[in-house]
Amino acid sequence: MAETKTVIVTGAGSGIGEATARRFSADGWNVVLNGRTRDKLEAVAKDLPDDRTLVVDGDVSNANDVSHLIAQTTDRFGAIDCLVNNAGVAQMGEPGDLTLEQFQMMMDINVTGIFNTVNAALPQLKTAKGSIVNTSSVSGLGGDWQMFGYNTSKGAVSNMTRAMALDLGKHGVRVNAVAPSVTRTQMSEGIREDEDKLAKVKNRIPMKRAAEPEEIASVIAFLAGPDAGFVNGVILPVDGGLTASNGQPNFD
Ligand code: NAD
Repeated sequence: MAETKTVIVTGAGSGIGEATARRFSADGWNVVLNGRTRDKLEAVAKDLPDDRTLVVDGDVSNANDVSHLIAQTTDRFGAIDCLVNNAGVAQMGEPGDLTLEQFQMMMDINVTGIFNTVNAALPQLKTAKGSIVNTSSVSGLGGDWQMFGYNTSKGAVSNMTRAMALDLGKHGVRVNAVAPSVTRTQMSEGIREDEDKLAKVKNRIPMKRAAEPEEIASVIAFLAGPDAGFVNGVILPVDGGLTASNGQPNFD
């Protein structure tokens, strides 16, 4: 029987990360759930098998917390086959609206967080010839109105994914990303609960709805698995067709 593989999912206490942790677990992986709030992680973990689940709380923007996460993972499961860099935060605002602290927080968590986890997990990922899947966003493929700070951070995630894929391919480590559009999680509550905003979103999405977190998780699982064994450096939109548009208005 093939050895059980191990994945770390950051931001696993809610939304896309929670769905991803549940998906990998259902697929038979050992799953390490990371996030800042232990209670949220434990609430997810209680549904998963004890012998294949580990909770390690910590902040991805803190290099010491991340070292601890990697050490705990290798102590418990002995390997890291996949790293899902999903933790993220978003702050709306036009240029001039955001404080330096708000801007810096997005860069620290969304971008430096990935730097930290990759740095710490790389020896194990190379040994396992594993893979990295980052949660970018359609906001990392182009600009949004009133989201320049988030766009800056997710643009960095997308290009970091491509550049890491170039450097790590020779070690057998693949690096890819998903680029979701509006997904039904806490992060998008402000948009989804405002009827006017939701109508505007639906107008731009050919499938006329937000994504379910499970629909992002299944693509992350695909990118991590053997069916994507020669997929490297791809930022895969999971967006109901949003980025198929050239940006012209939808008169429908
Ligand atoms: P969410 O708020 O439910 O999940 C984000 C998770 O990250 C939370 O559980 C949070 O506690 C965790 N987190 C935040 N800062 C952290 C830190 N410093 N260290 C560890 N964990 C931290 O929202 P979500 O939509 O599931 O977001 C997941 C990812 O998807 C994010 O990277 C987000 O930018 C991206 N994304 C979301 C949408 C959307 O519409 N929801 C669209 C595109 C991309």
